[in-house]
Amino acid sequence: MIRLAWPDLGEEELAAVAAVFESGQLTMGPKVAEFEAGLAEACEVEHAIAVSSGTAALHLAVLAVGIGPGDEVLVPAYTFPATANVVAMAGATPVLVDVDPETMNVRPEAVADAVTERTRAVLVVHLFGRPARWAELEAAVPEGVLLLEDAAGALGARRGDRACGSLGRLGCLSFHPRKIVTTGEGGAVTTNDGELAERIRSLRHHGWRGTDMPAPGLNYRLPDILCAVGSSQLRRLDALLAERERLAASYTERLAGVVETPSSDPGDRHGLQAYVVLLERRDEALDALHEAGIQAQIGTYALHRLTAYEDQGPFPGADAAFERGLALPFHNRLTEEDIERVCSVLTDL
Ligand SMILES: *Cc1c(COP(=O)(O)O)cnc(C)c1O
Repeated sequence: MIRLAWPDLGEEELAAVAAVFESGQLTMGPKVAEFEAGLAEACEVEHAIAVSSGTAALHLAVLAVGIGPGDEVLVPAYTFPATANVVAMAGATPVLVDVDPETMNVRPEAVADAVTERTRAVLVVHLFGRPARWAELEAAVPEGVLLLEDAAGALGARRGDRACGSLGRLGCLSFHPRKIVTTGEGGAVTTNDGELAERIRSLRHHGWRGTDMPAPGLNYRLPDILCAVGSSQLRRLDALLAERERLAASYTERLAGVVETPSSDPGDRHGLQAYVVLLERRDEALDALHEAGIQAQIGTYALHRLTAYEDQGPFPGADAAFERGLALPFHNRLTEEDIERVCSVLTDL
């Protein structure tokens, strides 16, 4: 069986966890600050706040900027559903915007068309790690409409000379096992805005500000055990990304002309959270891969095809990406032979 994903965890992470056990401090200890400092450096921002998941990061980002009932937030029609769910859970309205099936990211023109007087923010996703066209998105919205980043799959990615996670007012990362840096479950919010960072720290920790609680909050903390794992992973970010680039090149070389392979704009660095190709007869390809003992999956979801978001549309770009997207096995235990096996199934289709 060739697996879809396999987190790269080893002795270093195990030793880091053992050290936390030894310290006796499992939460709110020094490993949180250490991980946060590493994340801030990696994303080239002043502040990073570690939280319990990427979804928690997105939820706090939306809450911290005061989004609530009556507000609209633009979200891609093709994304992991958490991007839209957090907007709805904050009492606001997620407004779906179509994507370009080639980049799988929101189309700036579609964003411009979807803006109303109620629009407070755009939750921009760098899908599968492909950096979104930031300047075009900034130009697409009036002043006062915030750009927030769902950079869940984009740690290490760069838009030109800027790190993903530093582009928006707030950036949101995930450390789910299918992301490049994993803590099992985990996430973080990144920002250069000190006041928002303090608000997010408070919201993460029940709403406490010192001994007072000016407003209610949640418990979205990430324990020291997981932060220690994250720090070990983060120290290897460059190597992990280089390894993914090597695997992606190996796939792309074999699959050029067979399927549409992932790409990014010139000058960008793709985060390669996943290796998602586009092809006709996607479901047949899925069946053939499974039959050959190879795990594979759809890319991600077209939200307007889920009951929770079914009233919006049409979104031909999201439909095309949803119907044609296929995530291939992508982790550094894959051998050249494995890649050859996967590619031959697709070539023989
Ligand atoms: C993984 C992911 C999320 C959710 O992150 P969790 O840590 O699983 O909560 C949200 N958005 C995108 C684009 C993702 O890839």
